[in-house]
Amino acid sequence: MENKIILTGDRPTGRLHIGHYAGSLRRRVELQNSGEYKKIYIMIADAQALTDNIENPEKVRQNIIEVALDYISCGLDPEKSTLLIQSQISELCELTFYYMDLVTVARLQRNPTVKSEIQMRNFEASIPVGFFTYPISQAADITAFKATTVPVGDDQLPMIEQTREIVHKFNTVYAPVLVEPAALLSEQEACKRLPGTDGRAKMSKSLGNCIYLADTADEVRTKIMSMYTDPLHLQVSDPGHLEGNTVFTYLDAFCRQEHFERYLPDYANLDELKAHYQRGGLGDVKVKKFLNNIMQETLEPIRSRRKEWEKNIPAIYEILKKGSDAAREVAAETLSEVKSAMKINYFEDAELIRAQSEKYEEQ
Ligand code: ATP
Ligand code: MG
Repeated sequence: MENKIILTGDRPTGRLHIGHYAGSLRRRVELQNSGEYKKIYIMIADAQALTDNIENPEKVRQNIIEVALDYISCGLDPEKSTLLIQSQISELCELTFYYMDLVTVARLQRNPTVKSEIQMRNFEASIPVGFFTYPISQAADITAFKATTVPVGDDQLPMIEQTREIVHKFNTVYAPVLVEPAALLSEQEACKRLPGTDGRAKMSKSLGNCIYLADTADEVRTKIMSMYTDPLHLQVSDPGHLEGNTVFTYLDAFCRQEHFERYLPDYANLDELKAHYQRGGLGDVKVKKFLNNIMQETLEPIRSRRKEWEKNIPAIYEILKKGSDAAREVAAETLSEVKSAMKINYFEDAELIRAQSEKYEEQ
């Protein structure tokens, strides 16, 4: 095992959805079970969620447990991964404060994800400073645990880039204390930024275009059957288009060879299905039913594990507390190294006190 460390997380702004699953969660579980990582930290980013939910603290509070339930139901195992709540690690705020000196306003303004999020939230002239600077706080989260690897969707790439710049600057100006992280993206194009069921933006809790991991079987079926496909594909016999066709994007993300054997044996694989759709003669309903079968198969075990854990909520809070306590110790260690590199560790520096005494004795 090399010294590889993972840090990743989600904002408690709602239950997790299949975009999270495809973009990051599924991978996290594989990485957790691969045994290749020394440590895995999974963070519920409540402080970050508050930056654009200032009027809604109750929403953030309620969703901590939803996100934690989704984690555990997907197979994140508290024995193998440290599950923590961001706000409980006050060291992260201190790190953020010091990193702010290393970033310019112009650099933050260039961040394309923050730009589009500002637009989506209609912040324009009234952006909370905390929201504007959340990439810096994210750098604190990642570096506090000396993470080498951050599994994320591609909307997070600018944050990782920003973190790397902060690390580089810190290590150059002060001392080589921090570790430069790398993003780990899904290999499948469709999973890097799964679109919402409306086919417009990315699936996102804040946009209400999600299939949630905790949705009932009926809810999933209803959402799939009314999904956006190809507006030009009016009759079954019409040739269909794959570009921007959400149903096919989801098939790219979730369909495996064995699904054809089980649910659609007339076709050998996804390429054949796509070819038929493009030629014409294949109706949307048939494709949607196939997708529904796949999603039900994928989500059923998650749903039933969730039902079990929902009976034991105090145990989940206990897991989060234990994880946060453990994480805090690690963050405190990093903060202490950061402060000594920055020469703000006066009381631990016996040499400083000795030298200052000498200076005055000589006078
Ligand atoms: P919010 O709307 O509150 O920002 P969100 O749905 O965007 O919520 P986040 O908590 O911001 O979810 O994202 C958590 C992680 O999941 C990030 O790594 C992000 O890249 C990934 N992710 C979120 N949505 C998608 C998606 N549609 N496809 C792939 N990955 C995603
Ligand atoms: Mg987001």
